[in-house]
Amino acid sequence: MDDFAEQRQDQRAVQYAVCTYALEHDRVTDGAEGIFDQAVTNGLAAIVAHAWAGAEMTGSRVRSARELLDVIEQRGKAERGGIVRVPHDPDGPEFEEAPFADEPLPNFTTVRVPVLRDAINATQAIRHARVDGHTSAATLSDEHVAALRELDYHPALFALGGEAIERSRMSVRDRDIAEQQRAAAYYHELDADERARRQAIDYRAEHEWEGVDCRTAVQRCPVCGNRALVARTFDAFAEEIGIGTCLVCSYRRTREVADECGVELDIERAIERAMERDD
Ligand SMILES: [Zn+2]
Repeated sequence: MDDFAEQRQDQRAVQYAVCTYALEHDRVTDGAEGIFDQAVTNGLAAIVAHAWAGAEMTGSRVRSARELLDVIEQRGKAERGGIVRVPHDPDGPEFEEAPFADEPLPNFTTVRVPVLRDAINATQAIRHARVDGHTSAATLSDEHVAALRELDYHPALFALGGEAIERSRMSVRDRDIAEQQRAAAYYHELDADERARRQAIDYRAEHEWEGVDCRTAVQRCPVCGNRALVARTFDAFAEEIGIGTCLVCSYRRTREVADECGVELDIERAIERAMERDD
């Protein structure tokens, strides 16, 4: 797998984990169907790409969740009740002895195809009703969310425990607050003339440009308020939150902070899209 493919798999795993966590913990009240779609599409795409590289795509686009389930049905090992096993290692045994487990562990992920199909149908029905101004009788059930969660047994995916995600988010936020305080203190140390000199510079004219597949953007700094945060890379989710340094006050936005903001933005948009979509 090349770097880009690996990065794409990581993004899918994170999207799956964050959205599944949000669904399990009722952090989403409105637009849960949009979050479910995002979780199931990313989860299934990661599994299919890992098991049968390239089968997650059709032409240049990633297959829809329904199509990914078709691939899994065609290529996985069918069990009773429409359940399909996706092997983690096609050459390995179906069950593996594990040193600390009493019983051999499955070397496959169970995909409850009928339950997931039913969930996808429910999200579609909820959307259609919303567009028409009705309330749909269809709902996402605990069984749907459980089938989604079961996908995390696959090595390409992972689940986020509640405490772990909150802790890591808190520490990201704490570190950013400390960095903002440091930059603000530095900014206040500058004398008024120096501040004015820096503020008068047109950073966009100097730094902003766009190439075929790379760009530099100059964004507004959350510390000093100047449009002076020069970003050459962006968050992995919305690809909008700049990672870089403010040339006026020295505030530095790290990748982890940008990703944290990007995830929030992405979830908000998924909800908005779900509410607006007419499909
Ligand atoms: Zn600044």
